[in-house]
Amino acid sequence: MTRPEDAPAATGARDAVRVVLATHNTHKLEEFAAIIAQRMPQVELVEYDGPSPVEDGVTFEENALIKARTAAEHTGLVSLADDSGICVDVLGGAPGVFSARWCGRHGDDAANLALLLAQLQDVPDRHRAAHYSCVIALVRPMSADRAGDEHTVRGDWRGRLLRETRGSNGFGYDPAFVPDGSALTAAELDPATKNADSHRARAFRAMVPALQQLLA
Ligand code: IMP
Repeated sequence: MTRPEDAPAATGARDAVRVVLATHNTHKLEEFAAIIAQRMPQVELVEYDGPSPVEDGVTFEENALIKARTAAEHTGLVSLADDSGICVDVLGGAPGVFSARWCGRHGDDAANLALLLAQLQDVPDRHRAAHYSCVIALVRPMSADRAGDEHTVRGDWRGRLLRETRGSNGFGYDPAFVPDGSALTAAELDPATKNADSHRARAFRAMVPALQQLLA
């Protein structure tokens, strides 16, 4: 992972292709860097340090594209950005893109989860299905000799919400989310297990062929 000013020009490093990653989340940067290093070693991932756009989309796709387009415009590089959240069936897919600010404050994980569980208090177990979604947007800016291009890929991780919370790993809604096929909440899973199976892992896997296509 490099910053834009540290990165060698694409023509300077043999076969290296620079791709900018539009996130400031260290954990996500590491996850992206690991999968790129493993599956696309010719790609040099560059950390985006330009302005952050207003994320005013109403779908994960729209918000991921807003972030990726901004980074592509400011750097002139192929850009990646992700957006994610939890969708509860009985709430028609909410909190969805509002997952990080469901309680009215951005990033208050404990309050977001407490409010969601309170809203579902009277919902019987058979109607407590939910899933995490992660969408990754890939944007190639227009250049002198090539049209621009955009793609999105999605990973879903299905499960259900408990009435109580269990476990201390993970973050966000993990202490109440039990993935299908598991007896443990996402916060009780060891991080390696969660990271291999989660919505983000699934979106990352879908991203590799889409990025290869965009760079071809
Ligand atoms: P972001 O896409 O990282 O901004 O995530 C938006 C919000 O979705 C987070 O603040 C969490 O509330 C929720 N979220 C996304 N992924 C996860 C996860 O893996 N576990 C728990 N909550 C998540």
